[in-house]
This record gives sequence, structure tokens and C-alpha cells, in this order.
Amino acid sequence: MLMVTGAAGFIGGAFARMEADMGRRLCLVDKLTYAGNLQSIEKPLRLATTVFAHCDIGDQAQILQLLRTHGCTGIVNFAAESHVDRSIDCPDPFVDTNVSGTVRLLGAALSYYRELEPNTQNAFRFLHVSTDEVYGSLGASGAFSETSQYAPNSPYAASKAASDHFVRAYHHTYGLPVLITNCSNNYGPYQFPEKLIPLMILNAAAGKPLPVYGDGKQIRDWLHVTDHCRAIRLVLDRGRIGEVYNIGGGTELTNLEVVHLICQQVAECSNARAADYLRLIQHVTDRPGHDRRYAIDSQKIRMELGWTPDQTFSSGICETVRWYLENNAWVDAVRSGAYRRLGLASFAVS
Ligand code: NAD
Repeated sequence: MLMVTGAAGFIGGAFARMEADMGRRLCLVDKLTYAGNLQSIEKPLRLATTVFAHCDIGDQAQILQLLRTHGCTGIVNFAAESHVDRSIDCPDPFVDTNVSGTVRLLGAALSYYRELEPNTQNAFRFLHVSTDEVYGSLGASGAFSETSQYAPNSPYAASKAASDHFVRAYHHTYGLPVLITNCSNNYGPYQFPEKLIPLMILNAAAGKPLPVYGDGKQIRDWLHVTDHCRAIRLVLDRGRIGEVYNIGGGTELTNLEVVHLICQQVAECSNARAADYLRLIQHVTDRPGHDRRYAIDSQKIRMELGWTPDQTFSSGICETVRWYLENNAWVDAVRSGAYRRLGLASFAVS
């Protein structure tokens, strides 16, 4: 059984759904913060091969008990506070979960790993899911590779950078078989509507202003969430222990270009004119310390593991816009936080 932490979030949920579809046995762990939503993993939760634990990754005793009870063969750590703006408003929860929580999770993983028989130990992996934001901001050219210097600029990026260093240290100091992936910006269904793409889709559809930070010329390298999840599975199966793999779609777009594409797509789905949505764009004061450009050099995972993204941005954004327009119930539940009050007990197993 594979432990997946942060499994009720955007990427963890996509990974859980993909793994469940492949028939894998899963121990899904989530603290269910505002960003965690059990409705995103309804399908895996219905399977007899899945268990869910409402648990903080920082609760070492409960994590260790789960690892032992379910005989886990590895851990994929998605659990994190993930929103840059929130980290600027208040960094504390980012330190608590992303740094201290990861260290405590590593501690539980190491205790468990040391108890395993040699054969099971050989197969065990701790895969830490991280971000390209740890490398800071790029100028007009170049791309982040696995050897780029860490230069995190936001409290979120700093907390993820610290967690990456601890994961690396647990390998070098204690021999825990770890892997780290640093991925570019993800998009796709089930992303919490505070993030750029879902926020713009939902605001456009509701005729609300589309707030764009500064000049909107910040560049991000977008990747569909299912391509990220396929990459994580490959790294888990065939990645070299102790190594870092950068994952990116090679689709560089400015934020303003993304918003324009969303307006066109929402217009197409609504039989309206793109101009009706484009006029909703409002430039607002830029985010403090806003990184200008991210780009990923993903040669290593492409050459070593044969990974390539399946989705182009135009096919992915089309599917994503449709999904948000057709899934009002999910959006309403997430925004109201109603799911956190719904029959949690029926999922709890720990
Ligand atoms: P998300 O905010 O959608 O989900 C995070 C999940 O973690 C939520 O379900 C939340 O309830 C859970 N969680 C938070 N604190 C927890 C704790 N202490 N214990 C257990 N669970 C906890 O985030 P996401 O976008 O799915 O990102 C997942 C991971 O991928 C993060 O580590 C993030 O840094 C990384 N990442 C994200 C992106 C992106 O574009 N979204 C890109 C690269 C890397």
C-alpha cells in the first residue's frame, strides 16, 4: 500500500485518482485544511483498496501507526500549504506544515524504514513533491535544471526549499531512500479556486473582474496535472535514489496570455464574444517580490525515464474550462467549506 499525503488537494487528489484507476492500494492522508476536499477523491474513497486517514503529516505517532498497520511500501508527500499570497500574509502555517511537518514525516518514515525486512527496505521510497519556485526567478533566457542554485523569494518558496534540504539530508545522513521532484505550475480540474486559472475561469463566467497582478507579463511554464502525476509515478518506479527530477511542460506563457486564452475558451463554451470577458481584466498592484519568470529544463526526466507531457496547453485549458463550467456543485462546496462538515467519520480508518 502506498501512502499519499495531501491526497485531498489538487495534485494529490489527481495522483490518488490515477493510482486508484490503475488498481493500486492506497493509504490517503490529509489534514483537510481549507484546500483539502474529500469530494475530489470520492471515487478512490469508495474502493475497498483505499483507506483514508484524517491526519496531520506532523503527527509522527499517527503516521507511524498508519505505515505499520497498512504495511506501506512508500510515501509520496504532496501535503503542503501551497498558496504564495497566503504565505505573504502569514508565513507561520507554511513553516509548520512545509518545514516542521515534512521533518516529522521524514522521522516517522525513517523509524518505519528501519523496522522493515531487507527486501521491503529495498523497495521502499520517500518521494517529496516540490516546486520550481525554490530556484527563484529567471531573466529573459535560460531554464532551471536540477543543479540550479536554490534562491527562493517568497515565504512559500522558502518553506518548500527548506523541506527539500531536509529530505536530501535524510538520505545523506540516515540513508532514507528519497526522491525529490521540482515541478512547474500545474493546472487542471479540482484546483482550489484561489489559484490563477480556476479563479479567472470562475470570475469570467460570473461576469466578475479578472484581477491581473502588475503588467501581467510574469512568465510561468504550465503543465497539466495528469502529466505531472504520470511523471511522479515514473520517478517512483524508476528514479535513482537520492536524485532530483525537474518536471515542466515547456509551455511558457505570460499570465496575461493565460487570461486571454481563458476568456476565449469561456466565450466559446458560452456562445459569447471573447471581448465580453476581456473587458473584465483589471490590472491590480503587483504581488510583493513577484517572480518574473520560471522555466524548467526537463531533459533529465525525459532522457532518463522517457517522460513527455501528453497534453498541450490548448487541449488542457479547453478541458479545464469546460470542467469548471460543468462542476458548479464542487466549486460551491469548496468555496463554502461545506465538505469539511460532511460525514468525515465514514472515511476515517486510522
Ligand atoms: P493544495 O493546496 O491543493 O493541496 C494541499 C493538500 O495538503 C490539501 O489537501 C491540504 O488539506 C493538505 N495538507 C495541508 N497541510 C497538511 C498537513 N499538515 N498534514 C496533512 N495534509 C495537509 O496543493 P497542490 O497544488 O495540490 O500541491 C501539492 C504539492 O505539490 C505541494 O507540495 C506543492 O508545493 C507542490 N507543487 C504544486 C504545484 C502547483 O502548481 N499547484 C507545482 C509544483 C509543486
